[in-house]
Order: sequence, then C-alpha cells, then structure tokens
Amino acid sequence: MNDVRIDDLPVRDELRGKSPYGAPQLDVPVRLNTNENPYPLPEPLVERITERVREAARNLNRYPDRDAVELRTGLAEYLTKTGKYPVGVENVWAANGSNEVIQQLLQTFGGPGRTALGFEPSYSMHGLIARGTGTGWISGPRNDDFTVDLAAAEKTIAEHRPDVVFITTPNNPTGNAVPPETVLALYEAAQAAKPSMVVVDEAYIEFSHGDSLLPLLEGRPHLVVSRTMSKAFGAAGLRLGYLAAHPAVVDAVQLVRLPYHLSAVTQATALAALEHTDTLLKYVEQLKSERDRLVAELRAIGYEVTESDANFVQFGRFDGKHGSHEAWQRILDRGVLVRDNGVPGWLRVTAGTPAENDAFLDAVRELLSVVG
Ligand code: PMP
Repeated sequence: MNDVRIDDLPVRDELRGKSPYGAPQLDVPVRLNTNENPYPLPEPLVERITERVREAARNLNRYPDRDAVELRTGLAEYLTKTGKYPVGVENVWAANGSNEVIQQLLQTFGGPGRTALGFEPSYSMHGLIARGTGTGWISGPRNDDFTVDLAAAEKTIAEHRPDVVFITTPNNPTGNAVPPETVLALYEAAQAAKPSMVVVDEAYIEFSHGDSLLPLLEGRPHLVVSRTMSKAFGAAGLRLGYLAAHPAVVDAVQLVRLPYHLSAVTQATALAALEHTDTLLKYVEQLKSERDRLVAELRAIGYEVTESDANFVQFGRFDGKHGSHEAWQRILDRGVLVRDNGVPGWLRVTAGTPAENDAFLDAVRELLSVVG
C-alpha cells in the first residue's frame, strides 16, 4: 500500500508533480514566518466569543444563515468606517478565509479554457488556486525592485487577454504597495483587452501607509477588493475572508459557493471580533511601528530592504544559488523561523512582538558577521 504515490493515482494532469502550499509549522521559540498577528485575542473578546458561540451552539441542529446577512452587514459597516467609501451588505460576500474568496472568484470567472494573471513574485496561492480550479495561470512581470512596471504589465494584459487579473497591494512576499494610479491603469487595460475581472487583494491593507482602494469600486463593476480577518484582526485561526464589489459580483459567486459554507460557529466568532474592532486596530498601530523599526534596523545593520506597507519585511540580499536558503537555516538555528518564499536572494520576516523582533535582529546581526 505504501508504494502508491500521488502520481500513481489518476489525478488531473495539471496537478501532476506539484506541491501543496506548505509554510513549515515548526515548534521554535520565535515564529515570524506566516504573517500572523503575534498578539493573542484580548480576554474580553475571548469572553464575548464564548458567549456568542454558546448561543450559536443551541441552534447547531439547524443549518446556519446561508447568506450570513448579519455578518456581512457588520463587515460592510467596518469597511464603510475605515475605507472612506460607503459599502452595503449587498456589496459584501464572506467565506472561509480570503483563500476561499479567491477560489470562489476563480470558479466563477476563471475555469477551464480561461486564464488568470498575477505579477510575480506575489502571493503563490493565486496561481495554485487557479490551477486547482482549472484556470490557466500567467505569470506577469515585476521590476527588479519589485514594483509593477506599468508598460510591461499593460503589454502582458494586451497579449494574453486574461479573464482575471490579480493585483496584490500591499504585495506578499515583497511588502510594497501598488500605487492607485497603476491599479486604475491596469483595470483600464484589462477592460480594453477582454473585459476581465480585476481582483485587488488587500489582505494587508490595514498595515499600509496608504488608503484602501475601495473608492475605486465606484462605477467599476469588474473590480473586486478582497480582505481578511487573518491579519489585522489577529484571527488567522478563525478563517474569515470577505470581498467588496458590485452587488452583481456578490450574486455571481453564490452560483459556486457550497450551501451553508460559513458555519454558525464561524459567523458567531467573526461577529464577536467585529464588536472589538477598535481594540484590535490598536494592535495594528503597534505592529506598524514595529514594522518600521525592523526596516530601519535591518538597513542600519547593512541589509537591503524592500519598502513595506504590510506587517512583514523582505530583506536580503543573500548571494549564491542557495544563499537565501542557507541564511534561512542559520536564522532558524538561532531559534527564529522566517520565510524563504523562493525569491532568489531574499527572505521575509513577519513583524512580531518587540521581544520577538529583538531576537530576530540579534540573529541577523550575527549572521551578517558570519557571511558578510
Ligand atoms: N492574500 C494574501 C496576499 C495573503 O498573503 C494571504 C495569507 N497569507 C491570503 C490572501 C489568505 O489569507 P486567509 O485565507 O487567511 O484570509
């Protein structure tokens, strides 16, 4: 039995030889590798979740609200309050993490015979979910400094005429944001070519120096802004992502969502978290200043650092074919787990608590004295 491997099974051709998403989950003292929020939820919120989940538990014999109306209303209020643009329940859709939001978008607007485009390096799951939904993947270019080269991007869109275009801003793993003018120009280019759906992945927007692109939704029914409670809300374990778009997009994704996809427990927990938005956003301010400290200190030590609008920082450069992986291992040997995203010469560190960041900075200071 043990000698049967994936490729011995009749799996779809496009999955052959591929690896699943796999950030290592290692048990080390300082884990700064998956862009999680390092602060556990505050105790009053834990209490409120317990209350709301207890209430929900009394009705677990019934299916949950299939349309998650109360939760989507709460998310719409949050977006309206923070996004400088009025969003209603009819503009919002929610799912189990923004990964599921992206999957539903690709099931709706991609699929066999269609293509999706992203500007890489970027969030690797865009390409992996494309593959999983039978959507062809096109890797668009970035400049050496990881900014999006507008002329090259427009040329790629015109040439490939993708059905879905992903713009991740702030971008993961590089950390830099895409200027709103560039997003607008890419939207226009995508409409001229096809027209296609443009998905702005704002998973890290709460950490940005700039504003959300939500106001761009006005008059642009092919634009989607995707968000998550995994980062700013410190609730990666909750699995709650959402999108804002024209109501027709919200209707369209319901053609592919599984019935009752958001459990009553998830909806109750997310509603409790939304009640504590103000407290949770204070942690965001703390993380932003720690992020800025990491950028400044890494530069002072002598590393190159990509501008960051996120809760993580990309740093390098590590020379040689295995340079970044070797550096990753040496940092791990000092008890600090960072991320090697496969961007040659670069590693990514998530902003943690001040003590965690100090441990990381000590590790990379020592590293430079070894390799530099
Ligand atoms: N988009 C980007 C850019 C991300 O980095 C991540 C998580 N690493 C996600 C989406 C998915 O987040 P989640 O499914 O936890 O909402």
